[in-house]
Amino acid sequence: MSVDRIADHVRAGERLSAAEALELYRAAPTALLGRLADGVRARKHAEGVVTYIIDRNVNYTNVCVAKCNFCAFYREVGSPDGYVLGFDELFRKIDETIAVGGAQLLLQGGHNPDLPLTWYEDLFRAIKERYPRFKLHALSPPEILHLSRLSQLPVSAIIERLIAAGLDSVPGGGAEILVDRVRHLLHCYGKASADEWLDVMRQAHHAGLRTTATMMYGTVETDEERLEHLLRLRALQDETGGFTAFITWSYQPDHTELLGTEATGIEYLRTLAIARIVLDNFDNLQASWVTQGGKVGQLSLAYGANDMGSVMIEENVVRAAGASYCMDEAEIVRNIEDAGFVAKRRDMHYEVLGDPICRAREVPRMLELATARADGDVHVPEELMNYPARSRAGKQLRVIPH
Ligand code: SF4
Repeated sequence: MSVDRIADHVRAGERLSAAEALELYRAAPTALLGRLADGVRARKHAEGVVTYIIDRNVNYTNVCVAKCNFCAFYREVGSPDGYVLGFDELFRKIDETIAVGGAQLLLQGGHNPDLPLTWYEDLFRAIKERYPRFKLHALSPPEILHLSRLSQLPVSAIIERLIAAGLDSVPGGGAEILVDRVRHLLHCYGKASADEWLDVMRQAHHAGLRTTATMMYGTVETDEERLEHLLRLRALQDETGGFTAFITWSYQPDHTELLGTEATGIEYLRTLAIARIVLDNFDNLQASWVTQGGKVGQLSLAYGANDMGSVMIEENVVRAAGASYCMDEAEIVRNIEDAGFVAKRRDMHYEVLGDPICRAREVPRMLELATARADGDVHVPEELMNYPARSRAGKQLRVIPH
């Protein structure tokens, strides 16, 4: 079918088949893809509002046994650079988040064999006890699977226990490309196959949680595989309706085992646009300014995005792989308004909370992103001694008095 005919289908609000989406992605001029995606956005968000959330992206540990070859963030068990954040450090990060108007942590980390399920439960309970209204958008599907394997409990039981401890929603990390050929090549099949990732999300939705979905493109996958990823997400959304939003970003190659080059800004905009067109049952698409920079982030609003994501107070993962863009609330709001939209703060469910906080009160400007912990800090949190370690290195650390 010709690109013009497919474009007519999109304008008419019709769902695209895999073949139509592939033809459009490959052959449509970038400006046309953008106009079509913008049309879908405008139908779904006719009021011209672009949202963002004030939260903090905290990585509680960088110790990971998964060893994905595209990841520059993880450290092996026993590495001198490995860390686990203490509960007190996490409370301090929450205090700082609240001070700039935030109400949520995005909490993700490596698959650390020395952190049992009870550590997570105690942490979530402690946070909720101290900050009852603070939200936890935490633990991507592979982390939940890791806990299921570590505890020898089914995924549904892990989700249930985490919800009881305070989990509010699940971030869509660890999806990369939901095609097993790609996952084998990226050494991430073992942490979660495509079916396993989707099934954790299915079970989270059945348990009443809303979640996001993501796609990291630009490694070894084909165009067909990118579209297969989108179509699998669309199918699960048809089934459960549990996804709040979709976020895509390009692979960041620095310091990774896989190496390679980063996809261009044009490829990002084309990929975002085709996602907006294909994911007709997703309400929200985020702009990934953290990997693309503020200006491409702003341009994303003309290619299907209706959300600027998070005011990143802290970022560790893509920074380790070479990207370290920073925008505080004032900068995000300026980018939204300069693009002709109305900027509104939202919560994790994409409900509007109100106007920018920096308009209502003095908020400290944040011109640099924080990191999980300062360079050279090798402190081991005291409460870790209360939890059994699985690895030899972890066991040794826990018997040495600090
Ligand atoms: S991407 Fe996540 S699971 Fe994979 S090595 Fe990095 S921290 Fe571990």
